[in-house]
Amino acid sequence: MPSEFALIERYFKRPAPGAVLGVGDDCALLRPTPGHELAVSTDLLLAGTHFLANTDPADLGWKVLAVNLSDLAAMAATPRWATLALALPQADEPWIAAFSRGFFDCARTFGVELIGGDTTRGPLAFCVTIFGEIPAGQALRRDGARCGDDIWVSGQPGLAALGLAHLLGRVVLPEASREPCLSALHRPHPRIALGLALRDRAHAAIDVSDGLLADLGHILVASGLAARLHWQHLPRAALEATANSDLARECLLGGGDDYELVFTAPPALRDDIATLTPSLGLELSCIGTLTDGNPGHILLEDPQGRPMTPGRYGYDHFA
Ligand code: ADP
Ligand code: MG
Repeated sequence: MPSEFALIERYFKRPAPGAVLGVGDDCALLRPTPGHELAVSTDLLLAGTHFLANTDPADLGWKVLAVNLSDLAAMAATPRWATLALALPQADEPWIAAFSRGFFDCARTFGVELIGGDTTRGPLAFCVTIFGEIPAGQALRRDGARCGDDIWVSGQPGLAALGLAHLLGRVVLPEASREPCLSALHRPHPRIALGLALRDRAHAAIDVSDGLLADLGHILVASGLAARLHWQHLPRAALEATANSDLARECLLGGGDDYELVFTAPPALRDDIATLTPSLGLELSCIGTLTDGNPGHILLEDPQGRPMTPGRYGYDHFA
């Protein structure tokens, strides 16, 4: 069986030309670009809680990095570096090789360098810390939203949750919607390019990791505002993916794991933001407006302007 050091050397040590020093010493050394702020975020993924233990290791390698990149996207940061802590039940080399391949596919796609980490035996778990950069003062924060802003969402929230429901046997998705839902679940595509395009357009942003309404709620609370959403303006792919309309609605409004962005921007920029759809190849839906109601409150209106009951709002590990 290879030693811990041989595994690191073989599967996790790669050139990191953007760092002063990468994998191999007690610390990595980083030199941030002058005039920039560092954006730093960590996510811990546990088998059984955040992913099914039998998930394809290449998908896991991709996803553990992608979910962290999504946090950078939501702050409008440029990805730079990451560290990776791994707990593995055994040194299963084919498994580690596939995990490493998925991880570095994602790293290459989004321009991130792995500059350190930790490798230990234990119940399967991963922790990535990611480092990005933003010109000083230009980060998109949750507390920057303004009354009257449009509320936008990227992509098709709900598909990842439907994919998970399919794997758990809660629904049998028709053949045609299986692939998009499972790939949304296993290979989320962090919206880095959108985040960068929003630097000088949006007032606030968040990534949808816990559910559309729950994550929008964080912007509302941080900014002291309420929201009015129009049901008919929500992106509809989740609703079209299954005949189980209750489940589809639950996944659209409250499903986690999509890693789309919710952001707010002045209505004067509506046409300008719409031009990002063709340039980024990403659907953007204007789904509502920020109002000065009770902070955190979300009013969801049906096409006749009547209030709807959203039901389950999102995922909370301690609820
Ligand atoms: P230390 O004992 O100083 O913590 P380690 O023996 O744990 O050092 O790690 C040796 C080197 O390998 C360090 O530079 C560390 O950052 C790096 N490293 C360990 N595990 C990983 C991993 N999974 N991915 C990337 N780098 C790793
Ligand atoms: Mg160590």
